[in-house]
Amino acid sequence: MSDFAQKVALVTGGGSGIGRAACQRLALEGASVVVVDRDEATAQRTVELITAAGGKAIAVTADIASEADNKAMFDAAEQAFGGVDAAFLNAGILQPYVPFDQLSLDTFDRVISVNLRGAFLGAQQAQARLRPGGACVVTASGAGIIGFAEAAAYSMSKHGVVGLVRSAAASFAARSLRINAICPGMVLTSMNGLAAVETVDAPEDLTDPEYRGALSGQQVAEVALFLLSRRSVALNGQAQLVDAASLSSFPPLP
Ligand code: NAD
Repeated sequence: MSDFAQKVALVTGGGSGIGRAACQRLALEGASVVVVDRDEATAQRTVELITAAGGKAIAVTADIASEADNKAMFDAAEQAFGGVDAAFLNAGILQPYVPFDQLSLDTFDRVISVNLRGAFLGAQQAQARLRPGGACVVTASGAGIIGFAEAAAYSMSKHGVVGLVRSAAASFAARSLRINAICPGMVLTSMNGLAAVETVDAPEDLTDPEYRGALSGQQVAEVALFLLSRRSVALNGQAQLVDAASLSSFPPLP
């Protein structure tokens, strides 16, 4: 039986990209899914895709930078499905590419507010409200492990997310919970303009000679599902790079 049968999963940023792929996979595995996004229409679209495939899901509109919205999304999950077992805190934003010396305070505040404050608020709710045995995964980035000269606010926010899971893990463990981060390399989603809202497939075989360093949302979502499942019970407080070795050969060969 799937690890997610009869379970409830909450996914932020579930209206697009990695988050939508994770919602669809979790529903296929039998989870009831709470699709959270600040964009109501795209969250609804994810729910339609799931229900059309025979799964169960609800859409919740929320801004992860808001403490009240973080509480409200867990309230909605508990009201609809009785509790939450898996929280995938995945929503995030990129910034306009600028050199470090031109990075404005406004951009810094906006990016930190969503990517780091949002992850922190979500993690605190997850720790308080996940059922024992549950797990939380936060989406950081390869830019949370190495610096990103043209997107320093983004990189700083994702380094913060890695610090968040490392710092919160012992406290999660005290409640029989786990928290880990995934650090994707380049992913084919709307975030980096490589695709519209729908995810585009990368070659399934990452040793394919056509492979140019970008993953699909589905490939990244698979790793998130592993970390949300009981199969990864030995992992807590870890930040897993998910890049099929592309960052070690960056920039991709022409
Ligand atoms: P995406 O833009 O396709 O999806 C992000 C979703 O998050 C969107 O639906 C958006 O509406 C939602 N969102 C943004 N801000 C929000 C907020 N304040 N409250 C609620 N929802 C909000 O992008 P994606 O590539 O699927 O990104 C998912 C995560 O992966 C992000 O945290 C991103 O930083 C991270 N990531 C992406 C890449 C990449 O190359 N695409 C690489 C590394 C990490």
